[in-house]
Formats: sequence, C-alpha cells, structure tokens
Amino acid sequence: PSLTIASEKNSYPVFIQGGLRHECFSYIREALQKSVSSYMIMIDENVADLYLADLLASFPENIQPTVTKIASGEGSKSIEKFSQLLTEALEVPLDRQSVIIAVGGGVTGDLAGYVAASYMRGIRFIQMPTTLLAHDSSVGGKTGINHPLGKNLIGAFHAPSAVLYDSDMLRTLPETEWRSGFAEVVKHGFIKDTAFLEWLEKKVMSFSDIPSDILNEMLRRSIAVKAEIVQEDEKENGVRAFLNYGHTLGHALESELGYGKLTHGEAVAIGMAFAHKLSERVFHTTLPTKTHEIYMTKLGYQLSIPEGISAASLLQRMKLDKKAEHNRIRFVLLEEMGKPVLLPVEEQVVLDLLVSEGVNA
Ligand code: NAD
Ligand code: ZN
Repeated sequence: PSLTIASEKNSYPVFIQGGLRHECFSYIREALQKSVSSYMIMIDENVADLYLADLLASFPENIQPTVTKIASGEGSKSIEKFSQLLTEALEVPLDRQSVIIAVGGGVTGDLAGYVAASYMRGIRFIQMPTTLLAHDSSVGGKTGINHPLGKNLIGAFHAPSAVLYDSDMLRTLPETEWRSGFAEVVKHGFIKDTAFLEWLEKKVMSFSDIPSDILNEMLRRSIAVKAEIVQEDEKENGVRAFLNYGHTLGHALESELGYGKLTHGEAVAIGMAFAHKLSERVFHTTLPTKTHEIYMTKLGYQLSIPEGISAASLLQRMKLDKKAEHNRIRFVLLEEMGKPVLLPVEEQVVLDLLVSEGVNA
C-alpha cells in the first residue's frame, strides 16, 4: 500500500494508483482478511455515470455486488437517505459478513460509512474517494450525516477496511472541486509539513495538467499528515483540532453565505489567509503570507472576504462555534510555519483585523 493507517482497533491500507478502479476487486480481496458474504456498492450518481461499468467489470461474474446510487449534493447526507439505505441493505439482505463500498466524494463516504457503522452495529466498508476533498474525509474514521439543526451533527467513528484511491478518476472533477479539495492539501502543509508546502508551490501550478506521479505523491503526503494527526490525537487529546486551521472563519463564511455559494475549500482558503494574518498579529511574527497569497490567487482562489458581509455577523457566527468562550474566539494559529496552536483570541483583535481587511463593521 501507499500508506498504512493505524486506527483504534486495527490498521488499514491506503492504495493510491491511477487506473486502480479496473482492478478494484483484487485490491478489495487483498485488503479484507475475513471472508465476505456479499458486496454492496453505494455510489454517487455522477460517478456512476462515469465509472460504475469499470468497477463492475473488475468483479467476477459470480460475485456481482448490489448497487445503489446516491444523488449528488450535500442534501443526500440526510436522515431520510440514511434510513432508505438501511432499508435497501435489509432488503438485499446484507449480513454481518457483507461489505459496503462507498464510491464518491465526501458526501457519499460520510453517508455510506455511517450506514456501515450502523447496520447490525457495524459492518466493514471500503472507501473509494473520487474527489480531491475526499482524500481528507476518507481517512480518520469520521462518518455521519446532517440534521436540519446543523451539519455533521449525527454520526459515528467507523474506520474503513481500506481506502482505494484511483487518482485518474480526479481528471473528470470540475475545477471548483479541485480548488475545494486543494485547500485541505495546503492546510496539511501549513500545520505539519512545511517542506510539502514548498514542494506544492513548485510542482502544482494548475489543476488541469498535474502529472500522475506528482498527483499521487501529493495525495500520499497530504493523507500522511492527516493520518499522523489523527493517530497522535488518540494518545494526546486535542491535536486533531489543528485540522481546523482556517475553519473558524471558513465555517462562518459558509453558513453566512449559505452552503453552496462557496465550496468548503474555497471558504477554508479565505479562512487560512485570515488565520495567517491573525497569527502574525498575535505572535508579533512574520509568516510568508504574501508568497502564499500569490500562489493561491494563481490557482484561482479568491482570498478576500466576499462583499456584503458584516464583521458583526461573522463574529456572531464564530462565537456560535462550539469552541468559543466568553468574548474570546478559539482559533488555530501558527506560532510559526508548521507549528499550530489552539488559542482563544479576544473578540476585539479579530474585529480589528476584519475591519482592516476591508470588511464593514
Ligand atoms: P461531494 O461528495 O458532494 O462531491 C462534489 C461533487 O463532485 C458532486 O457533485 C459529485 O457528484 C462530483 N464528483 C465526485 N467525484 C467526481 C469525479 N471523479 N468526476 C466528476 N465529478 C465527481 O463533495 P466533497 O467535497 O467530496 O465532500 C464534501 C463532504 O465531505 C461534506 O459533506 C463534508 O462535511 C464532508 N467532509 C467529511 C470529513 C470527514 O472527516 N468525514 C472531512 C471533510 C469533509
Ligand atoms: Zn475542511
């Protein structure tokens, strides 16, 4: 495997390889130790149009999986869809030896993973991420759905048995989805691997023509950072919070604008640029802020806070964040490059920076 990830109970392999989908059955067989009674593929509908035939062709004729499609979009991470998938699984029926294969982006992985976590108190599942963002979501064991009262409020920790990443499938991803996922790649560089960040700035200049070997290495190094943090967190509580770099303002922007106006990563990119500057103010230091902004702008990111949003409403949103204390907002900041800290920041300091960034009070 490209990587092996330790989780609480056991470890699981991550395979990253262009064209892997054509051999996905042999990868699955290799990854699953215990015997399997049946397979069920839960696949994003757009991904199904493009790749389902390839996946099915890799399975032997007498071991064909059941297939169910998931409508594209965040709306599928609902209690209704979750319930419907459980019903379908019961109708097949899947049993304790069955395996669910989640094929799609973070929406499909979170949803199908949660079905696997819940069905008969938990059956095995395989993650086949097909978006760049899903390099992040497919590792770490978090699965779940949304509630009308908030995003990702219902869920479970359930690690996959394997992650199978066919990097060729990313070639059909729209540019905005590349941008969404790439922000998390950059984030992993900032919080843990500055050398990786420098490597990215040299090797990845646009999303349309990344050579396969560069793409695979990028995925491997970014997943490695995520995995290290998740593994450390099992020993030393709280390190996982560093993954929220750029997310305090990012989440506030997403909910203020309404989900879908900016992709998650585009909002996080703005949040990171802000967290950068906030770090400089709080620690009286200089970070390579300008270089980073130029790089991200070349890749099509818009890093300024969108017009028409008030600083007061953003502050209000950030204070609603579960990490806020009275008059202080908890931010992940960089003491220096690659060295994150979780720190409560005075509301006034945040407000001053928002205003100096041109946001109306
Ligand atoms: P997504 O799953 O909605 O996919 C984005 C779009 O790309 C969809 O329209 C999909 O149909 C399309 N698509 C997927 N693969 C494609 C391909 N290969 N070619 C062409 N089109 C393709 O979005 P996402 O950004 O992958 O995931 C977002 C979700 O991930 C959110 O719900 C978020 O909460 C979750 N998430 C979870 C974790 C975690 O730790 N579990 C971490 C981060 C994000
Ligand atoms: Zn994120």
